[in-house]
Amino acid sequence: MTSCGRTRQSQHRRGAAELAQGLDLPGPPRGSFCTFQGHVQIFEHSSTDLDARYASLAAGISVWHNSAGKKLSREDDKARCLCGSLFPSRPHLVWCCPAFQESRIDVPSPVNRAEERLFARAVNELPRPPEDTAVHGVKAELLQAIAELVQTSDNLFLATDGSAKNHVASWGIFVPCSDRAFAAGVEGEDQSAFRAELEAIRAALAAVFAASSQGIVMCRHLTIVSDCTAAIWVASGFEGDVIEMRARRFFELRRSLRAVGIGVDFKWVPSHGKIVRGWAPHPRATEAQLRAWNHAADRAANGCMQRLLAGSARLRWATNRKEAKTWELAAIRAAARISAGYRAHCES
Ligand SMILES: [Zn+2]
Repeated sequence: MTSCGRTRQSQHRRGAAELAQGLDLPGPPRGSFCTFQGHVQIFEHSSTDLDARYASLAAGISVWHNSAGKKLSREDDKARCLCGSLFPSRPHLVWCCPAFQESRIDVPSPVNRAEERLFARAVNELPRPPEDTAVHGVKAELLQAIAELVQTSDNLFLATDGSAKNHVASWGIFVPCSDRAFAAGVEGEDQSAFRAELEAIRAALAAVFAASSQGIVMCRHLTIVSDCTAAIWVASGFEGDVIEMRARRFFELRRSLRAVGIGVDFKWVPSHGKIVRGWAPHPRATEAQLRAWNHAADRAANGCMQRLLAGSARLRWATNRKEAKTWELAAIRAAARISAGYRAHCES
């Protein structure tokens, strides 16, 4: 952003009081990073509104744009702004012209040239995800809970779910036989909801395999209950080119479990009480059970995610992004109103 020609140099027309000038602001701080979220949103919804489209591109809205192809002299009426000054620039019309004060009344004034000229507010880059210091303890407790069941139950159900918000993700596992839920944060940079769903299944399979190596194994069937068809698709054996590496980890886990006599199947359950035509429960679990287990896994994952998100750098980052977008939208909408007003003035 600091190397952009429109913000690097002042280009303020000094010493000419009769000119309709913009503000005289400093450049954006060194290393500033802009994502133009407001611009993108308005551009995508402005195919029939030329003023909004120009504003979203920080283009148009100046005497030179509105008199393109004509050579205006100082004496020309069209060279004069509504406020009486000469040759109004975009920064003048959008931020300074008293004739358009009402149009920008809800927009906090720009503080640097990126805001003034590009309607762009600098944002923070995505920080590291919060670290879940409890993850090892949670995995140990999960292993202990499952180890007892693997040694005593023929069939084992585990419900898994993931939760993600503002690039902070957690996985959750509900163990119906012991009525206990376990949840921990997802490790690594990818904190998407899909990754969280996969991590939940992976943690469940890994825990059963680890438990099976601790003693006699009575368990012959493990059913993973999940509301994510894409995660089930990856975890149940897809070995295509696109996500081969990710699928391979599941394939190997399932093969290891098969080697100790535990077959794995997956049962999809509609999330959040949704009714899906043709969906049937599992032969060994009722609809009410499957939905309740899914809900318990969801609640565990969501609670953990909320705990990690609260006070995290990623929450501050998300707030910063939201505030930047809100300001950009307000600035661009004001610029579009002013564009229409100035265009009407030029055409009159
Ligand atoms: Zn003016």
